[in-house]
Amino acid sequence: MASYDVIVIGSGPGGYVAAIRCAQLGLKTACVEGRETLGGTCLNVGCIPSKALLHASHQLHEAEHNFAKMGLKGKSPSVDWKQMLTYKDEVIGQNTKGIEFLFKKNKIDWLKGWGSIPEAGKVAVGDDTHEAKNIIIASGSDVTSIPGVEIDEKIVVSSTGALELGKVPKKLAVIGAGVIGLELGSVYARLGSEVQVIEFLDTVTPTMDAEVSKAFQRLLKKQGLEFTLGAAVQKVEATKTKAKITYKLRKDDSEHTLDADIVLVATGRKPYTDGLGLDALGVEMSERGQIKTDEHWATNVKGIYAIGDCIDGPMLAHKAEDEGMACAEVLAGKHGHVNYGVIPSVVYTHPEVASVGRTEEELKKDGVDYKVGKFSFMGNGRAKANFAADGFVKILADKSSDRILGAHIIGPMAGDLIHEICVAMEFGASAEDLALTCHAHPTYSEAVREAALACGDGAIHA
Ligand code: NAD
Repeated sequence: MASYDVIVIGSGPGGYVAAIRCAQLGLKTACVEGRETLGGTCLNVGCIPSKALLHASHQLHEAEHNFAKMGLKGKSPSVDWKQMLTYKDEVIGQNTKGIEFLFKKNKIDWLKGWGSIPEAGKVAVGDDTHEAKNIIIASGSDVTSIPGVEIDEKIVVSSTGALELGKVPKKLAVIGAGVIGLELGSVYARLGSEVQVIEFLDTVTPTMDAEVSKAFQRLLKKQGLEFTLGAAVQKVEATKTKAKITYKLRKDDSEHTLDADIVLVATGRKPYTDGLGLDALGVEMSERGQIKTDEHWATNVKGIYAIGDCIDGPMLAHKAEDEGMACAEVLAGKHGHVNYGVIPSVVYTHPEVASVGRTEEELKKDGVDYKVGKFSFMGNGRAKANFAADGFVKILADKSSDRILGAHIIGPMAGDLIHEICVAMEFGASAEDLALTCHAHPTYSEAVREAALACGDGAIHA
């Protein structure tokens, strides 16, 4: 039995970051992980592998659609699916080994196995029980399905199965037009699948700024994705080689069916807390299965904390990382803090979609007096040169104070561009502050400045 200041359960972005920060702050730290590699869902079967496939399939798209225009002639590359999966697995390996290296560097013990908490102050892993002054639960989330749909990870797959299909399907049906559905739907559309997306609500990515989600759907349609919106999936019947989806259109209750070779279920994830023993400990949970915490990530049981996807808030790796760092600081006697009003969200399609702060619909609903500064990438020289002029930057600012309240970008590198606005918002900046900041030419970031200028006397290139 070993004794620690902190034991973190789970080594995803929340857990491993918490462990590293605890160690950096001088706490004797261990991290429990039952997978064969560190990094959790994000590194092993989520963010990182999907980005590898998005990158590879985007290169193919560029070769097929834009190379010849630039005078790069020759046959477009063909898809060697097995090699693409090998590349993806190598990327995973490099990243998970990177975390192992960081654990060694920071003298964090990796307790291999699945952890449980027999009592406050103790963590059991296999036959061993370890002592910990404090425990951070960072057990993440798991795939979930909807009634009538059983995931077999062969024909009816979650994002996990979709990252290792035997071959590129001819027909892919995606249930749910959220982040996973659209990212992985894009991958397979670029690789030649017919992709049909079925969404319960009337828009894609329903929580996004409505103007952006409308433009997003139009651009994805241009790339070959088909959408059936306002459709409630009733059931999926799968054989060994095919599946049939039955859905009802909500507007008239009419029933329809759709055949597909593969069905991707992307209707959300659920907190994962199985086997931790939280019930017996009396840890308070929400109705949605999340661990309840206070503003310092403490549960109702002394010495037990929780962060990331298993607590309230957006299920995003970077939200979990921020909570991991802040929780470590709290445990080290410092003042950990997360600004939940400035957490960006990004969809890594092409173009990318990124947002931070409030949407126009939210501002309207809250009765806020706001103004909008918009700038199209059509007016950005760099974007035009790179065949990336689809999309726009939209900044929402308070009408009287000019303070930035939210920003929504659809366009090239949106997921990187959003961060100058995040920094601005953290500093309580006005749109004018951004507009007065010199931006290098020619960069995509000039479109952000132009949108800020559009909140004032007007953009230059509009
Ligand atoms: P999501 O919540 O983003 O989207 C789920 C979609 O499914 C919604 O649009 C919802 O209306 C729809 N839906 C729900 N029930 C349905 C039904 N019966 N029939 C048809 N449609 C239905 O969830 P996701 O895409 O599964 O992703 C899971 C989590 O992982 C999310 O929290 C997401 O933010 C996170 N994630 C983030 C990223 C990223 O940041 N790039 C990437 C992948 C996953």
